[in-house]
Amino acid sequence: MIKLVAIIGAGFSGATTAIHLLKAAKTPMRVILIDAKSPHGGGLAYSTFDDNFVLNVPAQNMSVFPDRMDDFAQYCNAEDSALVSSSFVSRRIYGEYLKQRLSSVAQTSMGELVLLKERVISLTQDASGYQLHCSSGLKIGAHSVVLSFGHFAPKPLDALLPGKVDAKALIVNNPWDVHAIDSVPRNKDVLIVGTGHTAIDTLFRLETALADRRIWMFSRHGLHPQGHRPVGEFHKDPVLQKMVQDRVLEALLRTHSLRAVVKVVRQLISELDVNWRDVINALRPITPTLWQTLPKTEKSRFLRHVVPYWDVLRHRLSPLAIKRLRTSFDEGRSTIGAYAIQSIRTQRDGDIQVTAKCRHTHQANSFTVGAVVNCSGPTYDITKTGNELVSFLSSQGILSQDEMKIGFRVAADYTVNPNFPRIYYVGPMLKATHWEAIAVPELRVHTARLAQTILEDSQ
Ligand SMILES: Cc1cc2nc3c(=O)[nH]c(=O)nc-3n(C[C@H](O)[C@H](O)[C@H](O)COP(=O)(O)OP(=O)(O)OC[C@H]3O[C@@H](n4cnc5c(N)ncnc54)[C@H](O)[C@@H]3O)c2cc1C
Repeated sequence: MIKLVAIIGAGFSGATTAIHLLKAAKTPMRVILIDAKSPHGGGLAYSTFDDNFVLNVPAQNMSVFPDRMDDFAQYCNAEDSALVSSSFVSRRIYGEYLKQRLSSVAQTSMGELVLLKERVISLTQDASGYQLHCSSGLKIGAHSVVLSFGHFAPKPLDALLPGKVDAKALIVNNPWDVHAIDSVPRNKDVLIVGTGHTAIDTLFRLETALADRRIWMFSRHGLHPQGHRPVGEFHKDPVLQKMVQDRVLEALLRTHSLRAVVKVVRQLISELDVNWRDVINALRPITPTLWQTLPKTEKSRFLRHVVPYWDVLRHRLSPLAIKRLRTSFDEGRSTIGAYAIQSIRTQRDGDIQVTAKCRHTHQANSFTVGAVVNCSGPTYDITKTGNELVSFLSSQGILSQDEMKIGFRVAADYTVNPNFPRIYYVGPMLKATHWEAIAVPELRVHTARLAQTILEDSQ
């Protein structure tokens, strides 16, 4: 009987799993790629039509194929010869690439690709595998199921600051909803909660409205985003990489202490005659080992104290994006501040008064804005995703949260529960096990491995 693999979620993770399955299929199989939204292949990050949103990784490191690293750069160059391997292209182009590779691999595969626009809300087990139940009433039978439902919108601000947020205040809690961002009043200042990549995307989107307003971006530490170098970002020096990795791993294995690891990284940055980015880049391949080796108390310490610094150094903006951001600061259109928000209240005139305590002065300050956009980061709390399928799977005990509450419990073969064979998870919630698992360079490897596992399990 022909094997059916149902993939729930057709963002990068689901689409790439389908690509790897179809590419490697040696016998007939059916891959059913299901997404509540079209188009299949874009997902949250790559469905945009706005070329303001640029990849933060150069083309040369964005191939979907771990064994053909120049695939995306070649695609870009064929589309426009001005685009080369070091170009940072728009996320829209990347979405086009994913869709193109999905459809071209399907044309030559032994397997068949079926695209369905459906919202899966639950599943049941039966003799032949699983039945997926969709909100439309459709039932889909599958031998294997891949859960790749991706990111979930941030926890609403009133859940992050209970009792301190006025329910009437104009708050955009889903920063990836561009229609909501566009509906923010143009003649009033805006507060963005967060200073990471989504906050910067939101700033750029708001700035396209050419409105005369100031945009505040607050986070507790108020760290400024860092950029990639205009040239030579992904030049790799294997000798340097090995030396950095050996020194850091030696410190970790000797002490099992986060403090010792951070100390060595700082020493390497100051001792070596290289750009600090080269040291941070060298850590990327060993980050899963570092994360898995740290004791729980040290992981908690990392989450409490180090994450804001790590995120700024590791997740850098493209050279043009950092330049654009600095121009926005210099021209007074936006400001980053180190503030902890204390309350958000609506005034009689409808404006919002935000009270926030400055990290440096310890004083409470008041800001009047027309809207607040919540860019506090995707929620990793399984009970707060707002996704019916996730709630169902967790209520049935099929899917569970990891002990640090930053993702799902997923085994090395990507299964989520030994009592439910051939239900797999792939996507950013792998962060719980690997820490470094949310971007394309890692996810393409996980999806390729998962495809191999599914093909072996299906035999
Ligand atoms: C804004 C943004 C920009 C990024 N930029 C970069 C970058 O420049 N470089 C890089 O390497 N990485 C980047 N990343 C990270 C990385 O590429 C993402 O983590 C990747 O998009 C993850 O894809 P995914 O398929 O797991 O999740 P998603 O893209 O979130 O896709 C999940 C899909 O599942 C669907 N779905 C969910 N539940 C159901 C259901 N019950 N039934 C049916 N469908 C369902 C959703 O509709 C969605 O389409 C970015 C991430 C974001 C969010």
